[in-house]
Amino acid sequence: MDAIYAQRCPSCDTESVLTTQNEYEVEHFGAVLITVATCRKCGYRHTDLIALTEREPIALTARINSLADLNMRVIKSGTATVMIPEFGAKITPGPYSEGYVTNVEGVLDKIEDALTFMMSTAKGKRLKKGEKRLKQMRNARDSKPHFTLMIKDPLGNSAIVSPQAGKVKKRKLTKRELLATKYGQYVLPQEDTALKS
Ligand SMILES: [Zn+2]
Repeated sequence: MDAIYAQRCPSCDTESVLTTQNEYEVEHFGAVLITVATCRKCGYRHTDLIALTEREPIALTARINSLADLNMRVIKSGTATVMIPEFGAKITPGPYSEGYVTNVEGVLDKIEDALTFMMSTAKGKRLKKGEKRLKQMRNARDSKPHFTLMIKDPLGNSAIVSPQAGKVKKRKLTKRELLATKYGQYVLPQEDTALKS
């Protein structure tokens, strides 16, 4: 672990953010480098990660069919889009998107948090729909998991890890998909020629 020079804090706007980096070994996957930025002044904290293995723009798909599947490791970088079509859930990276190592259940928790937050201001049909999805998700987590987890990462720093061959489908993102993908803090200008050529 080594601290790097202080950087400007996006929250309190002082030069008080210190960054530490830690290498972390994920079984059946390889090493990831986890970066944690912490502001000494206001407590702002941001984490992200990159994979130290070979990387390319990827789309990952895994069918979640059992309680055991909920324990599969998920490496989600700050540039990843996470989707569960059965629950109408899609989380796209924003400017402060975080990266983390978790499991499938942890991903469900994050989606639940986002949905609960959305519902705090929703009314009428939107609220009804949210309640229905929340119930679906809790049911899936507690007894009958039956859904598809999809992750798209243009920088290839994400993974769904299973010791079982063929459990996780992996393919390269197409150029069209790359252009339509949000990169979070790494947003590329639309006229970027490297991607179009
Ligand atoms: Zn701060």
